[in-house]
Amino acid sequence: MMSLCPNPNPSFLHLHHHRHRHRRRPFFVRSLDAAQSFDFESRAVDRLNAKSKLKIAVVGFGNYGQFLARTFAAQGHTLLAHSRSDHSAAAAAIGASFFRDPHDLCEQHPDVVLLSTSILSAADVLNTLPLGRLRRSTLFADVLSVKEFPRNLLLSALPPDFDILCTHPMFGPESARHGWAGLPFVFDKVRIGESEERISRCNRFLEIFEKEGCRMVEMSCAEHDHKTAESQFLTHTIGRILAKLGPEDVDIGTKGYQTLLELVQNTCNDSFDLYNGLFMYNKNATELLDRLDFAFTELKKELFGNLHDILRKQLFENPEESNELIPVTGQVQPCCWYGSLKNFILKV
Ligand code: NAP
Repeated sequence: MMSLCPNPNPSFLHLHHHRHRHRRRPFFVRSLDAAQSFDFESRAVDRLNAKSKLKIAVVGFGNYGQFLARTFAAQGHTLLAHSRSDHSAAAAAIGASFFRDPHDLCEQHPDVVLLSTSILSAADVLNTLPLGRLRRSTLFADVLSVKEFPRNLLLSALPPDFDILCTHPMFGPESARHGWAGLPFVFDKVRIGESEERISRCNRFLEIFEKEGCRMVEMSCAEHDHKTAESQFLTHTIGRILAKLGPEDVDIGTKGYQTLLELVQNTCNDSFDLYNGLFMYNKNATELLDRLDFAFTELKKELFGNLHDILRKQLFENPEESNELIPVTGQVQPCCWYGSLKNFILKV
């Protein structure tokens, strides 16, 4: 940036003073520091920056909506928010305008409407939006943790002029507490109009995540659901099964056990609605549960199968000893669980 000031060279000032005693002292460029009103370059940069900013309406301003909104706001985008509950204080803290009434929200003509409600409520919430009050071409994006369901929902509910971008940031407030760098961001450009403006709007939205260093992964919604049943749904299921055992921190816990405790905390911090949505709206989830059941039964069979021969010998070859103690791999096991084990073996 430029500012004007008198030439600081004393010899120049001396000569200048004698030759032009009655003229005003000349000014020279001395430093680049602050933008001046006639600085066209900085104005052009400002205009460019303003053009790259989006007006984003976050619909579903709960835990996750607010988490995303904080980063959108930090990047200078204009934020609007709408939710079932009154989150106006949280919105104000982020610098977002909160609208209780979806009509008021839509009349603000956001560039992007981002659906961040629970999976279970997404269809109902979408139905409450007066789509006719939005601009004829608006970009609808979602961050639901399943993808085929919102894809089909948005395709069937939105007018053909609306663009559709299905996304899943594969991280949350817990896993991304140190930033988003390197974390996967899955997206599927389901329907983006061909005009330059619509392509650019979609790209500017994706750039938000690129700027934070996310690993951008473009894949179809179907492929996403197949892969996340095998990974995310499995993780949440194991975390919730472990939670049912009520594991406690112990002073001699191994690192592996600490990892289990963290898994319980991470998965149970998310709402049950979220987990339920992963099950209800991903057709691959049922199969995963069946396979998990099967795997557990197989593992038990393997464990008890190893005892089978030893116990059969005791049961049928030395029956007089079998009601007392069962030596297993060098240890003496109390006979209190022997009855149920015997039953199990007889069944197997
Ligand atoms: P969530 O329990 O899945 O969703 C909570 C949001 O849904 C809140 O905005 C809540 O509104 C709204 N909601 C719930 N039931 C509703 C109903 N009957 N009618 C209207 N609105 C309802 O928890 P979340 O963690 O905030 O997740 C939001 C979305 O982001 C979900 O689709 C989830 O799959 C996705 N996501 C979450 C994570 C994560 O780590 N948490 C990561 C990636 C994607 P009010 O608060 O106004 O009541």
